[in-house]
Amino acid sequence: MSKIKVSELFYSLQGEGMYVGVPSIFLRVFGCNFSCSGFGMPRGELSQERFAVDPSKHSDYKSLPLVHTGCDSYASWDPRFKHLSPFMHVNDIVTEMQKLLPDSGFSNDKHLIITGGEPLLGWQRMYPDLMDEIINRHMGLKHVTFETNGTQFLSNELYDWMYQNSTWIKFTFSVSAKLPCSGEKWEEAIRPDVVKQYTQIPRSNTYLKFVVATEQDLDDAVIATHEYRDYGVFCPVYLMPVGGTNETYELNERNVADFCRDNGFRFSPRIRVPLYKNAWGT
Ligand code: SF4
Repeated sequence: MSKIKVSELFYSLQGEGMYVGVPSIFLRVFGCNFSCSGFGMPRGELSQERFAVDPSKHSDYKSLPLVHTGCDSYASWDPRFKHLSPFMHVNDIVTEMQKLLPDSGFSNDKHLIITGGEPLLGWQRMYPDLMDEIINRHMGLKHVTFETNGTQFLSNELYDWMYQNSTWIKFTFSVSAKLPCSGEKWEEAIRPDVVKQYTQIPRSNTYLKFVVATEQDLDDAVIATHEYRDYGVFCPVYLMPVGGTNETYELNERNVADFCRDNGFRFSPRIRVPLYKNAWGT
């Protein structure tokens, strides 16, 4: 039985990166190999903010508080919140997608985004079944984005499925590689060998996206970009201001934009912060 532990399934606008503003179904799956507790903290310190959220007081995502520090989607991987993410059969996931999509399908440039957590952990073995089900229902799927941290190789099964279907489905890998400001170790987070595999799917788009706040983060982004280039990964690189809340986001938005302009990086906004206050399910 093909089941996936689903944290959230919702319809919204892509909030960041290359396809910002594109109407999309988001499938957020449970689990991550990182915790990224360093975001928004002084270098070397880890956020404890999520531990102040009492899981027993919440029965759905929409009631969860936003955090100012650490990973802003903590409930999609922290085991304390796993009761909020039910196992769903792929058929039921697709039925739910049909209910959420205005015309029950992906017509007129709507995308499917598979996110997390880290979506390329174990659940990747279910994606061929999931996408076959969407195809069998003639929903017009033409574009799938994986929002990944770029540390997980594609399994042979998923790689082959994507390779065979790449003529009619465009696959995008939005690789949010984690710099030291995340609190994760460089050698575990910056994996050009993994990202190179993504670029080998025909017609696929791969781009890197670094979350930055300080001058040191900008320097790290430059060094990491060289590391990917040295390995033969030549793809667009976006810099995106840190911040799950308006106060934090607005603090460094202009600095990051200016740095991108002056140094030949692409700037990514986070439109879900001003539009929807980064609320769950948006
Ligand atoms: S990789 Fe992404 S989902 Fe995982 S902890 Fe870091 S920011 Fe959160």
